[in-house]
Amino acid sequence: MFRLARSETNFYADCGLDRVSERRKDSAWVAERLFHAETRFVPLWRSRNYVDPKAARAILLSAEEHKALPPAREEPVFLGLAGEIAYFACDLSHIDAGEEGPALPSALSGQATFLDLRLLGPRLARSEGGLLAYARGMLTWHRRHRFCGQCGAPTRPTEGGHVRVCTAEACKMEQFPRTDPAVIMLVTHGDACLLGNNPRFPPGMYSTLAGFVEPGETLEAAVAREVFEEAGCRVRNVAYHSSQPWPFPTSLMLGFYAEAESDALAVNQEELRDARWFRRDWIKANAREFHEQDAPFRLPRQDSIARRLIDDWLKGEV
Ligand SMILES: [Zn+2]
Repeated sequence: MFRLARSETNFYADCGLDRVSERRKDSAWVAERLFHAETRFVPLWRSRNYVDPKAARAILLSAEEHKALPPAREEPVFLGLAGEIAYFACDLSHIDAGEEGPALPSALSGQATFLDLRLLGPRLARSEGGLLAYARGMLTWHRRHRFCGQCGAPTRPTEGGHVRVCTAEACKMEQFPRTDPAVIMLVTHGDACLLGNNPRFPPGMYSTLAGFVEPGETLEAAVAREVFEEAGCRVRNVAYHSSQPWPFPTSLMLGFYAEAESDALAVNQEELRDARWFRRDWIKANAREFHEQDAPFRLPRQDSIARRLIDDWLKGEV
């Protein structure tokens, strides 16, 4: 069985905080942390994180800078502790602003802007990438679950923003932050692997196959089903590799390797523009980076688990 060393987490998987999930149930403790002078805030505006793109780093707000902002719709979401310093995510989506997002009264705001996290991705330090992904995932969930799915009444956040509860007395249904499990798999056959280009990818970018897990389905059954649906290929020996939070908007990617029973393919043209077997040596000699837009064969982004699965296989580590 393949086993990952603790140091080999995927990008976006490590936020550098202790989530202290027991303590956030204590609303007095959360309120005390929220108003503490040392507390730091991770701002988001309409799913975009606050960053300095030139220096490739996250820009956080101090308690004083946060206090100067226009009042928010809901309290910030508690993320966790670094030592004794609390981190909260605050949603500024209610502030009207142009494409650039609101200009914050931060000392650093001259260099900072609101950007889609994927535009900076692997250029960020890993712990910053993980922190921004976690904040984005939490606030996306809040924005999409303001009403109860059972009775339609408004919901309100509790437990530091890790639960939403229905405000209707007769209902009070609780909702928890959701992640949608998706399997992502590198299928191999001897010294070749199966990579595809789907219509959502830029031309020339080839990656692993992937798909969402359905209710009542195991992860390994989802791997086999997706590979067969997309490429007409039966697999065996489905083996887990690692997982990656992918809050674009709400996925948890579960990475696998699988062996093809034969090299015969029947590519589903509605799902994929192209899928083919690529030999290990050919990939090593010909692959270009994701950002090399004119290259005829590019691998996925370096911060993706798809790339991790491909790279580990190229290195012969699986
Ligand atoms: Zn309800």
